Amino acid sequence: MNYWNKRLTAMTEYVPGEQPDNVDRVIKLNTNESPFPPSKAVLEAIGKEINGNLRFYPDPTAREVRELFAAQNGLTPESCFVANGSDEIFTLLFRGFIEPEGTAAFPYPSYSLYYTMAEMNGIAYEKVGLEKDFSFDLKKFLKRKYQLVILSNPNNPTGTYCDPDEIRRFLEQFRGLLVVDEAYIDFYGGSSVELVREYDNLIVTRSFSKSYSLAGMRIGIAAADPAIIRGFWKLKDSYNVNRLSIAAARAALADAKGFNYNRQMVVNNKEYLEERLTALGFELVPSRSNFILARHTSVQAKELYERLRERGILVRYFDRPVISEYVRISVGAMMHIKTLCGELEAIVGGE
Ligand code: PMP
Repeated sequence: MNYWNKRLTAMTEYVPGEQPDNVDRVIKLNTNESPFPPSKAVLEAIGKEINGNLRFYPDPTAREVRELFAAQNGLTPESCFVANGSDEIFTLLFRGFIEPEGTAAFPYPSYSLYYTMAEMNGIAYEKVGLEKDFSFDLKKFLKRKYQLVILSNPNNPTGTYCDPDEIRRFLEQFRGLLVVDEAYIDFYGGSSVELVREYDNLIVTRSFSKSYSLAGMRIGIAAADPAIIRGFWKLKDSYNVNRLSIAAARAALADAKGFNYNRQMVVNNKEYLEERLTALGFELVPSRSNFILARHTSVQAKELYERLRERGILVRYFDRPVISEYVRISVGAMMHIKTLCGELEAIVGGE
């Protein structure tokens, strides 16, 4: 018997990148996690929180995290919402912000969870194609009256980016709600978060899963006008972020040194990976993120993905229009990049 409604039965679910059980034995370059552990200060803060107080519920709005994030970004705590991963922000957003008759627009290719969530909630949406070089042309999002636009910036899976001046120009004309998903912004900077103070139809989202090495803790933050933030509080589960995650987020925001060290290492490794891939005959999409979208001039992406997988190296392959020629490779630790490039050399060299 099927008890789910027709919409759910008809939709295809979002398929996250593979999370293998033997995570220590594979080289995992498929879901853009950090190759480095959280800093010592963050691990200690989580450890300290493991005590008898776990019998109490956590702070329902993670006030201390909001205060820290707000102070660092020139905002007020009332304009910040702490979520169980930035994905939770999208879940709530789709539930509450757009009327069923409204239409949303998302770039293509982009983070496919946006499309899935629109479908899940019965919201009509359009995919607006990125340019040939995967750059953004925001004018295309003004062609129709969209109620909601979500831009992943930098964009997953292309790594391309549009700067805050372009976002500002867009906001001067756009009357719907714009969400700028900055899950990957920390690696190269250039955030639009300051625009939140000026535009009450802008939400900027951040994730602790990439630059803060905390994907396993599930922490995200939304910054927006307080009127929008109040909507999130109405919609969320009473205690959406647990005590350990709150402790981790607080410590991560306080530990600028640990954060900058890891961030810089990722950037350095990415630049090395780019050089090696280019030398191996790959064409790269210029990326401002911790992953690279690459295609080889002679070996098909699917074959690359499969042959790397056989060798215990996971990268991401998307069997979808426009991007099926590419693999997306997350920036790993130096040792793993060297192993990857050695294996790639054997594959593209014809061994
Ligand atoms: N936005 C983008 C563009 C992403 O790629 C991801 C990670 N897959 C997320 C949001 C979700 O991040 P989080 O772990 O904070 O839910």
